[in-house]
This record gives sequence, structure tokens and C-alpha cells, in this order.
Amino acid sequence: MKPSKKGFKISFIISSVVLFSVLMTLLINSFVGYQAEKTSLYSTTQELNRIRSDELSRTTQTIILSMKQTVMASAQYFTKEHSSDEAAQEQLDFLMSTDNLFNSVALVDKSGSLRAISPRNSEIIGQKLTSQASRQALELQKPLMSEPYRAVTNRLIILVSHPVFDTNGSYNGFISGTIYLQEPNSLKKILGEQSAATNGSYYYVVDAAGNLIYHPDPERIGENVLANPIVQKIVAGGGGQGEVNNTKGVSYLVGYSTVPETGWGIVAQTPKQYVDQSTKRLITSMALYSLPFLIIVLALVLWLSHKLSQPLSRLAFIASGLNSADGRSKEIPQIDHWNYEANELYTAIAKAFHIMNKRTEELSFEAQTDPLTGLTNRRTMDAILGLWQAQSRSFCVIMLDLDHFKLVNDTYGHQVGDQVLQFTADIMLSEKREQDYCCRYGGEEFTMLLPDVTEEQAYLLAERIRTCIEGMDCPTGKRITLSLGIASYPNEVLSIQRLFKNADDALYQAKHNGRNQTVVYTNASELTITSS
Ligand code: GH3
Ligand code: MG
Ligand code: MG
Repeated sequence: MKPSKKGFKISFIISSVVLFSVLMTLLINSFVGYQAEKTSLYSTTQELNRIRSDELSRTTQTIILSMKQTVMASAQYFTKEHSSDEAAQEQLDFLMSTDNLFNSVALVDKSGSLRAISPRNSEIIGQKLTSQASRQALELQKPLMSEPYRAVTNRLIILVSHPVFDTNGSYNGFISGTIYLQEPNSLKKILGEQSAATNGSYYYVVDAAGNLIYHPDPERIGENVLANPIVQKIVAGGGGQGEVNNTKGVSYLVGYSTVPETGWGIVAQTPKQYVDQSTKRLITSMALYSLPFLIIVLALVLWLSHKLSQPLSRLAFIASGLNSADGRSKEIPQIDHWNYEANELYTAIAKAFHIMNKRTEELSFEAQTDPLTGLTNRRTMDAILGLWQAQSRSFCVIMLDLDHFKLVNDTYGHQVGDQVLQFTADIMLSEKREQDYCCRYGGEEFTMLLPDVTEEQAYLLAERIRTCIEGMDCPTGKRITLSLGIASYPNEVLSIQRLFKNADDALYQAKHNGRNQTVVYTNASELTITSS
């Protein structure tokens, strides 16, 4: 079954974490920057509007004073001069031509009839003025400035009047100057110019009762806007700054001041939306400027995380190959990485691998070897036979059995018996070729597996071993002999089992024939018996 590959690669994790933190930092910075910038721009805009409304109120104050002084000076002129209507008319025309403060100037007698007006309008000369402002001027006989009202001409006007007395001090009517609020006038000249801002800022002027005296939208002039909280503050007196939602639900950043002479209020305001938009533009361009740097940082981090994870990936790759058949032979190559932990990990794993490989080798040697003699054990012998059989290899088997070994044990003890077994094994090993295997088959029986040899060659080797043992003193201090049986494979033999039976038969025959000899198996009935 193929092992499932779980989890993410470390370079992917590091890159994701970094990408996430970089994006979060960018987002948080942009958000905090946006908030800070917005708050600061809000208060700056309010302050600027406050400064502008202050300037405008000072200018307006000056204009109003000039208007009052102008009508006062004219009233004084008419006190001294008892002029005819025509002369009065000329005086008013003169006033209008030299002074642009009013849209019209008029002289009214004490009965309230219009004596003269400039610009000239003969149709209304002699008419009685019925407006509340005119009546008030007549009644109070004092300098006055009216609230906006509709005149006989249906114009929305403000009236500035001053009483006229003769040299004796008796009341002779009044002189008045008017401002046509919805037409070009001296106030508009100043306010209109100022309001030509590109950021949506504009100004409006309210009188002390909350009526619009000036507004960029002429339609709204004359409207009462006392519902506006800023206007309420103006009416209560004083200037200031703040935020307000207008009647159309639009938010504005506002600065306002009052004109002391009239109690009028001048409100300068900028749509909040404009400030928000410019803040957004600023933050967006900041983010765009930082984008190339972020990309460079990201690329660096990607490269770095790749470099960092490289040794780990290699280790993982090597470790994943450990399960394979040749995993045992693998050693981890030594590397020098600039990362301390990677080096430590490498060294530790390399050491562990080395120890593990050594131990595995030891274990596999132990698993394959007979502990007493150091010869290949029975299990390994079976494996070798299985392999050779699969490879259809031809080979010979020698079965060896010590003669009268029981006697050795009985005479010299089991320990000496063991030494005799070791002695026999050593001689077998010294006589075998490199490709041959010597096995402890069981007890004091041994086998030799000889690949690619003829029965004759096997016989010669068996004889060498037999004569060698026979000719030497064994650990008992005496001589010992052994009998040997040989069978070949494949020959007519088909199974390994049969092969061993044949070798065993040959060995039996050797014992039967008097021991200390080698017998080559030919067939069950006819055995070639050779003895020295
Ligand atoms: P023969 O010539 O017919 O082979 O006579 P033998 O006495 O050798 O008879 P056999 O082969 O049946 O003897 C087997 C003996 O080998 C029995 C047992 O005491 C002894 N033996 C088996 N394994 C060991 C061992 O590991 N160490 C020792 N010391 N003796 C062993
Ligand atoms: Mg035996
Ligand atoms: Mg024996």
C-alpha cells in the first residue's frame, strides 16, 4: 500500500505565514493610517473653515459698517441741504455711482412716501412704502438694519436705513440702502469669489434669526435654517467648529463665526466625503508605493524559506527511502548549512543512521550465523537454496557428519565437543572457495553449498576436508574423522528436499561403509563409494 503523504511542506508553511503577516501588516497599517489621516484631516479642515469664516466675518463686518456709515453720511448731507426732489435724486445717483455697496438707495419722507430712488424708477416715486422695515424705520426714527423681506418689487432685500433730521432736529424721513439678496450684490462679490473652491467647500450666511442671507444656491436665500444645529449655535452667539449633517443628510466639516455688528453667522463647510476620498486616495497611493518593496520582501522570504527548508526536505527525502530494501546501506551525506538547527539535525540524524546501520548489520549477521561455529545457519542456507533454485543454478551439496561424535562428548565433555565442532568448521572455511557456503545443518552435521561445480570437483573438495581433519589433532588431542555424502542439483533431482535426501543417503552409505569416507550419490540402488 502506498503511504499517504500528509501535511504541508515547511517552505509552504513559512511562505504562507509570512505572506499572511505581510498582508495583515499592510492592511492594519493602511487602516490605522487611514483612521489617523482622516481624523487629522477632519480637524485641519474644520480649523481651515473656521479661519475662513473668521476672515469673511471680518470682511462682512467692514462692509456692514461701511454701509451704515454711507447711509449716515448721506442722512447728514440731507440734514444740511434742503434740496429739491431733483437735487436729492442727483445726490442719490452720485452716491450709487461712487459706491458699489448697495443695489439701490432711496430717500423717504416722514410720511413714508418715496422721494427719490437710484437707480431711477419714476413709476414708484411718490408711492407709500408699506414694508415692515420701512414702517419700523419711520416709527423708531433710528438707524436700522432689517431682516430679509420681500419688497414691493418682489425682491428679497435687506434694508439699511438712517433717519434724516433737519437742522432744527425735527424728523424728515430716512435714507435707505438696499441689498438685493438674490441678485449680484456687494456681499456676494466677496463670498462668491471665496466659495470657488474645488473641494466642494462653500459658505453661507444667516442672519440673527436663522434666515439665509447668502447661499451659493440662490433659490435657498431667504429660507429659514434654524433647524441646523450649527445655525442654532450661531444664533446663541459665538463661533466655533464641528461636524453637521445638513437637511439633505450630507455630513460637513464646519467652521463658523458671527459678525458682531449684525449678529449674522458665516458658515464655511467642506463635505466630509471629500476628505474621506482624498484620504483614501492618499492611503491607496501609499500602499501602491510600498507594493514593490513588499514584493521584494516576499521574494526574499520565499527564497529564504526555500533555503531554510532545503536541508529538511533532503533529510525527509533520505528518511523516506529508509523503508526501501537498500535503505540499510544508506548513509546521510555530511552537509554544512548556514542554519544552526539544520546542521545539528543533520549531524544527529547522520549519527543515528550510522548507529542504526551498524546495528542492522550486526543483527543481520547474527540472524544469518550460527553462534557456535560462525557458519551460515540453517535458515540462511534455505534462503540461498531458494534463490539458486529460482535462478536455476547448478550446484553440489556436501553433507558432513563427524564419526562417533557421541563418544567425544561422553569422553571429554560437551565443552570439548563444542571445540571440536568449531575446529571442524574452521577447516571447512579454510578449504571453501569464495562463492561457497558452509552451514551448520544441525548438531554435529554440516553442509557445504558449492555453486557451479561438477560432482568430481565437489568430491575433491570433500576429500581435502576429510584428509585435512583426519591428519590433524583435534581439540581432544586425538584424531577425529568424518563421513561425507555428495549430491548434485539439478541432475535428475527436481526438488531441494530430494537433493538433501540424496546427499543424506550418500552420507548414510559412507557411514555404512565404515566411516571416514566420501560417497557421491548416483542413484538409490547404485552408489559410487570411495574411501581412502
Ligand atoms: P556416527 O558416527 O554414527 O555419526 O556416530 P555419532 O556418535 O556421531 O552419532 P550421531 O551423529 O547420532 O551423534 C550425535 C551427537 O552429537 C549427539 C549429541 O550428543 C552430539 N551433539 C549434537 N549437537 C551438539 C553440540 O552442539 N555440541 C556438542 N558438544 N555435542 C553435540
Ligand atoms: Mg549425526
Ligand atoms: Mg556423527
